[in-house]
Amino acid sequence: MWSWPRFNPARKLQPVPELPELQAHAERLNDWLTNRTLMSFRPLSFTALKTATPSPDEALRSAVGGVTRRGKHLLMSFPDGRDGHGITFVVHLMQGGRLRPDEDQKARPRSGIARWTFDHGPALLLTEAGKEKRAGIWVVTGDPLASAPLLGLGPEADALDAERLGEILARHSARLHGVLRDQRAIAGIGRRLANEVCNRAGLSPFANASRLGTGEIQRLARAITECIDESLAFERSRTDMSSSKERKGNVHHRAGERCQRCQDTVRSVEYRSYTVSYCPTCQTKGKILADNTTSKFLR
Ligand SMILES: [Zn+2]
Repeated sequence: MWSWPRFNPARKLQPVPELPELQAHAERLNDWLTNRTLMSFRPLSFTALKTATPSPDEALRSAVGGVTRRGKHLLMSFPDGRDGHGITFVVHLMQGGRLRPDEDQKARPRSGIARWTFDHGPALLLTEAGKEKRAGIWVVTGDPLASAPLLGLGPEADALDAERLGEILARHSARLHGVLRDQRAIAGIGRRLANEVCNRAGLSPFANASRLGTGEIQRLARAITECIDESLAFERSRTDMSSSKERKGNVHHRAGERCQRCQDTVRSVEYRSYTVSYCPTCQTKGKILADNTTSKFLR
């Protein structure tokens, strides 16, 4: 009988950086690159550039207006590009992508995906670790929020009050953990924050999002704010993006360890590419969650 491939932690993908890591990264890049003039942009892999028009060359010889973030994307804007219509490079790092200063500017940099060079020398290199090349760059003109890949993203996770959050959850009759990670519902939350937010709020990751009560939604809204604020403060204290191991938390990647709140053992439910972690005492009235997605296929 066919079954899911056995879970192999070694094959697990690196987690995608989330709102706090990308926000702090955008702020560092903004400080470094604002007002620098773009001298060249070169994709170094076939998969790097996701758009055919406008040409990235339309941003040449214009100055960086700033580097910002929307959801899990970084935006490098050139307001004077394309004869004043504006050009924006929208970058999604996916799991293994990183934007770094490119000190030696080798012809074939290891894991290099794309390179921007600026006047007076400095260069920015997009690298991506791993075999699967999924990081990408979209070059868009005009309002970047009005075209792919940013069009249709939900509101930023750090800009939600309980009322707005409640409206969003009411429209999604699905597991809370999945709804929190759905970028069209709420932008910026990934696997780690979803785990930590559910734990902080004392809610089951498998709770039906549309059926949460007012008090539960208020706890959830507070947990989202607190978890993001703490991670953002940590990221801003650093000079480079943290690795997933360095990010603090109570449940994420802590299965088998003691919950710091109640001393119960943290549990996890394994999926093929990610893990839902939780504390039974804090979140599920002691109930052990099982992955029941398999049974649908075997029925
Ligand atoms: Zn606990």
